[in-house]
Amino acid sequence: MLTRREFMRGTAGAAALLPLAGLPLIGCSRESGADVTVLRGGVVLPVDERFSEHSALLIRGNRIAQVGSDEAVLAAAGSGARIVDLDGRTVLPGFIEPHMHFLLLAGLGHVEDIGPFVRPTFEQCLAALREIRDVASATGPEAWVMGRQFDPILLEPARELTTRELDEIAPDRPVFVLNASGHIAYVNSRALELAGIPRDAPNPDGGEFGRHPDGSLNGVLYGPSAHLPVLLKNPEIQARMRGEFVAAGIEVGEAAAALGITTLCDQATGVLSGAAELGRYREMYAEGRMKTRLRAYLYDFHGEPWRDADVRFGDGDALLRVAGLKFVTDGSNQGFTGRQRERYWTRDSLGLYYIEPPVLRERVQRYAAEGWPLSMHGNGDAAIDSILDALEHARDQGIDVRALRCRIEHCSILHDDQIARIQELGVGPSFLINHVHYWGHVMRDQVFGPEKVLLLDRCASVERQAIPWVMHTDAPVSPLGSLHKIRVAVVRDLWKEPGTVLAPNERVSVEAAIRSITRNAAWQCHSENEIGSLEAGKLADLVVLESDPRKVEPTAISEIRVSETWMDGRPVFQA
Ligand SMILES: [Zn+2]
Repeated sequence: MLTRREFMRGTAGAAALLPLAGLPLIGCSRESGADVTVLRGGVVLPVDERFSEHSALLIRGNRIAQVGSDEAVLAAAGSGARIVDLDGRTVLPGFIEPHMHFLLLAGLGHVEDIGPFVRPTFEQCLAALREIRDVASATGPEAWVMGRQFDPILLEPARELTTRELDEIAPDRPVFVLNASGHIAYVNSRALELAGIPRDAPNPDGGEFGRHPDGSLNGVLYGPSAHLPVLLKNPEIQARMRGEFVAAGIEVGEAAAALGITTLCDQATGVLSGAAELGRYREMYAEGRMKTRLRAYLYDFHGEPWRDADVRFGDGDALLRVAGLKFVTDGSNQGFTGRQRERYWTRDSLGLYYIEPPVLRERVQRYAAEGWPLSMHGNGDAAIDSILDALEHARDQGIDVRALRCRIEHCSILHDDQIARIQELGVGPSFLINHVHYWGHVMRDQVFGPEKVLLLDRCASVERQAIPWVMHTDAPVSPLGSLHKIRVAVVRDLWKEPGTVLAPNERVSVEAAIRSITRNAAWQCHSENEIGSLEAGKLADLVVLESDPRKVEPTAISEIRVSETWMDGRPVFQA
């Protein structure tokens, strides 16, 4: 097990070891004094308090020294600085992805995406699985047929996979398909057999098996306690979660850097194997090849392994640091399990509390008293009420909850009374903004109806109250990609209905959207003293874009090319 002392040793040496020598610098004169770098001749947006604009930036070592005009920055740099000509390109602070699942991307990133964005019909999903089966057959008798991102509610027709279809595709080798939410999986009979799950098995603790009308298992596995025992039988997944994890994790960092992301917030560290996962992350950084920073939000276990391992908020260093604890208080709205004040539009159900309000209240008070920033998943309006009630209770017990900057993850449905409480308690809302674009039509027609759906992802309403809100992808739930998030927040159009705008009053300016995934995100993860803006003294993490997002058609923001990504004052990605 990882000990506190081992973790606290940190990864400080790793930054210096980043093997970046092989990366040529575009337009860079390799003179002596490489410690000082000037980026000039572009649009430099440091995302400071007043959203100022400059043409040049000075970096000393791994930190920002100054922004300003070309003349002023060149004069401050003195002789011997290396000069990078931006040639009109735009520089922003490196993007922060405030909520993603690192272990899932590392462990399952190689599995083929058969989701609705690439395979929009049920038939196309089946065809994809047949192709994957053919590859598996050519690989060997042990190879599984794997797919991810399956999302029946977005398919035409909306239909689930069961043992019926999956046995037909592969009668003699295991099939495992993960739902886009990560909460549900679809398997065939061979996979159930390998995992030792009989067709009349009782439901596991905290999960459920889908069943045919006769009561026998139909291959739909609800909840990680139902599907993980099957997934972990796959030898390839076992290898990626263990010995090959470091290499797989470094690949995740590379993919993020190519998208301009310099910091990832992992929102459930330890969910599979407890404190050992943090140890694996540390190994990954010790290699010195990680191209992004990581902020770890530790998954709350009933057994409290974090306390046993003596891991505390703030442990680590600028590359890898413990940023908070994570709870999940309800389910998903499009899965009809987010907990609502009123029944769903097309279902006679209020959804589920994963943590009953009295238990949540007790837990929030205990951890807040210990000084933990809490990151709490709340999708439905009733679940969000329960989170705000719990924080208010902790405050009434004399705890300074504002100082903790607790977060509400997804925070999907917000009423005005809740926005007022969020402001009062100093809470940070964190929106899964792609809910609007990809699931907006389902949210309107099936989940909430035409009125309540207007309360989805209220970016402009919280922006007006000067609440530091952020946007996340929840990758792999929706694809990593910061420019796409900016586009959705600015346009709010629907993927399935081009031209339809969902809740136009909640559209924000490009500047506000940029601020949300840089400056605001740094504040939410307690890292604003080191990242989130290009201000003197902060770490030189930045992205160079081919165009200024403020100057292109809003729907084209997601098409802007990432030209370079820099971390710690050096390029980690170049297109
Ligand atoms: Zn998540």
